[in-house]
Amino acid sequence: MDLVELTSKILDRRSGPDQPLRIVQAGHPALRRPAVRAEGRLGQEMLRALVDAMTVTMREAPGVGLAAPQIGLPLRVIVVEDRIAGTAGPDGPSPADPLERSAFPLRAFVDPQLDLLGEEWVYAWEGCLSVEGWQSVVPRSRRVRLRALEVQEDGSVVPVTEELAGWPARILQHETDHLDGTLCHDRMVPRSFIDSSYASHYEDLGEAVRRLGLQGEITRLREDEVVIRR
Ligand code: ZN
Repeated sequence: MDLVELTSKILDRRSGPDQPLRIVQAGHPALRRPAVRAEGRLGQEMLRALVDAMTVTMREAPGVGLAAPQIGLPLRVIVVEDRIAGTAGPDGPSPADPLERSAFPLRAFVDPQLDLLGEEWVYAWEGCLSVEGWQSVVPRSRRVRLRALEVQEDGSVVPVTEELAGWPARILQHETDHLDGTLCHDRMVPRSFIDSSYASHYEDLGEAVRRLGLQGEITRLREDEVVIRR
């Protein structure tokens, strides 16, 4: 099916523009198919409508990012936003938070490409709206360079290149992975897959190493540490 047709069909399944789209779950082939380049495929109006629909869906879930394959559309489009992170003060993330969690504003990108920068790898629990109810420990590069087209209010796009670190860098790695048909749990530390309801027992990664029998690089982390230099 033509991508314009498929996009319309997916958007038209809603009873109204304020309604979320269905998020497909692991096992759906859309999550495993590499998505195609999106630049110039939809036209400004439809791209804007798609981004708005993905935003409603991400917020309703709620999540901090959503990639088009998660709504069954094999296009390289993602939205990211964190309105929830509470640790950031006016001076940015708390220096005591090794994950550098911080709120960041809504942004939408077409054809995002990431270069992983530096040698610091951050270990943290991660979940996915397409693998509901499960989490695992996923190592991610602490810093990335993003090159993408950023979607504007009117559905036009503007090229951006920027460097990000910490929490937003993790979210972007998770969402761009979706465009290549990769789920976060494909990258997990083996044996770290858990039901989300147990997550509070393992906030300290040392506890997860001990009780789940995690092996490898993660065992080099000291208490309260999450970063390993490779
Ligand atoms: Zn995901």
